[in-house]
Amino acid sequence: MNIDPGFRIRTMWADMPSALDIPKTGHLQSNGLHRLTCTFQTDDDRREVWAELEEQACRAWEDSPARGDAWTRLLIFEMMRIGGEFRINAPVSLTLLRNLENFTEAFIKWYPDKLHPVTLTPEQIIDDTQDPVDDSALVCFSGGLDVAFSAYRHTSGQAGRNTLNIKAGFLGAGLDVPLTKEQVLLGVEENARLMLKDLGIDKLYVIRCNYQHIFLEHSALWGELSHLAVLAGLASFLAPSGYRNLIAGSSAPYDTLTIPWGSQPITDHLLSQRQFRVYPDGHGFSRTEKAEKLKGWPFGVSRLRVCWENPQPGGKNCGHCEKCKRTILNFRACGAEHLLEGCMPSVELSSRDIRSIDLATPSLRHAYQTLLQFCRQRHLSEPWVKDVEFLLTYRKPALWHLCRKRRITRKLYRIFFGRQNWKLN
Ligand SMILES: [Zn+2]
Repeated sequence: MNIDPGFRIRTMWADMPSALDIPKTGHLQSNGLHRLTCTFQTDDDRREVWAELEEQACRAWEDSPARGDAWTRLLIFEMMRIGGEFRINAPVSLTLLRNLENFTEAFIKWYPDKLHPVTLTPEQIIDDTQDPVDDSALVCFSGGLDVAFSAYRHTSGQAGRNTLNIKAGFLGAGLDVPLTKEQVLLGVEENARLMLKDLGIDKLYVIRCNYQHIFLEHSALWGELSHLAVLAGLASFLAPSGYRNLIAGSSAPYDTLTIPWGSQPITDHLLSQRQFRVYPDGHGFSRTEKAEKLKGWPFGVSRLRVCWENPQPGGKNCGHCEKCKRTILNFRACGAEHLLEGCMPSVELSSRDIRSIDLATPSLRHAYQTLLQFCRQRHLSEPWVKDVEFLLTYRKPALWHLCRKRRITRKLYRIFFGRQNWKLN
């Protein structure tokens, strides 16, 4: 089969020696894990990214025919930041290359000033189009509400014909919590193991990675761009161990999607390849509706870990940040806030606590709108519902104030230049 390895038109950067250099074997570290490395090289920069995983998974990856898949997926945004041709010194699967072509097209449309077309030129292209598939799955699992919902839904047979056979969990260490916060990471890991075990999932893979440290200057765009690509990239190191699907818990429902965003149903599935499908789960449910479903798993709710802003020793929730307050309100709306008493310092929230929440982004505003919508559907009229109404009515995000200024500017323009000229501009 003759396949052209380049799938984008070459650009002005084409002659630069950009490459992903991927050694064929991992190396044992003092912590007992095996380190896989990838050198990200451009004409004026050279950085070594590493991922550490357990020996058995490392050996399976070393024996796999397409060793370049995981690194290509993981570093796709870094390559798009540079643009042009990237040589990949490892084989890559054809179906991944095809999907990434559409994936990059979407994000370049959304971020034309930040991202650029790339030509991926692997050492070899593996035709995987006829490879067998099955329902075996990994679940991205940090202990948060979205992933808890997905793990519970699939293990209790509530995902209909899309129910997947979850055989293990996956946790990326060094992403939301830095590798330097060992105690927090250990707490998050131990908690995730207990939650999964309660659902009958005995295996949790923890992969440590220095991505956030190496590309520190881009960490502000973690949510906006790269978080799912990096998570799916790390998880796909485990694909050769026999997992054909990755369940990634959704963060926003279909009716209030934030687009563009690093994870949403338009592009999530384009991080897939034939034998490793990235399956975004739960977009049909708001966060409060997920909380309502989770009432069927009290143990899981009592161990939820939602706080990444001020994680406490052992990975516990602070109870004071926006995410903690929102989670308390999600469960309060469905009459189950008492289930959170095991994982929050307190489930009490004053009127001031609610009214002072900072709706910093449109996606946060959407989150509280769906909460209020849920309350209205259930005819809830407690004082705290009024506080949420107040929050949405009087606490505007910074963007709203800019738009307001723009309306004033528009009126002034019309006074001096007339209505038609404004429209033409
Ligand atoms: Zn918190």
